[in-house]
Amino acid sequence: YKKIGVLALQGAVSEHIAQLQGLGVLGIEIKTAEDLKRVKGLIIPGGESTAISRLIQEVGLYEPIRDFARKNPVFGTCAGLILCGSSITDGGEKLKLLNLIDIDVTRNGFGRQIDSFEVDLDIRNIGKNIPSVFIRAPYIASVGEDVNVLAEYDKKIVMAEQGNILVCSFHPELTDDNHVMRYFMDKIPD
Ligand code: GLN
Repeated sequence: YKKIGVLALQGAVSEHIAQLQGLGVLGIEIKTAEDLKRVKGLIIPGGESTAISRLIQEVGLYEPIRDFARKNPVFGTCAGLILCGSSITDGGEKLKLLNLIDIDVTRNGFGRQIDSFEVDLDIRNIGKNIPSVFIRAPYIASVGEDVNVLAEYDKKIVMAEQGNILVCSFHPELTDDNHVMRYFMDKIPD
């Protein structure tokens, strides 16, 4: 069966591993470049993008993740979307982005007063009315021409893909609906 890595430096790691388990997939915590050799796909979870970015560099995973993403699918959720992006519209100088997908990201883009909310999203290629949890979520301010937009909410892009790289602003691991995770699994060979 499939083994998927979940970057386990900070953030919503166990929730992703639990959802993968529900799909019969083994989620493996990735903490080092060596761990990456055991998996065929990688999830970069939500959490605090500044902390995850700093830790990626501290443990020496920056180039290994970029190499991995050239050959294997990567899914960035929430803070993971920010890290996969190519640029940040707001005060992101401190962040060293992985630059895996050609998107410009706005952090905390839905305003701090509405910290978190759940909506039903229509997602291209996946389905209609998919329950989606947003927590201090970023949105995608603009995309390059090779990027496919998969979902929008409130006229803001919240899910997109480019080749092997999938990103979403929300937390698919926090609902019982596993359509989004299955879509990512389908990109990964057995
Ligand atoms: N706002 C957070 C950040 O900028 C992301 C929040 C999340 O991952 N739930 O990193």
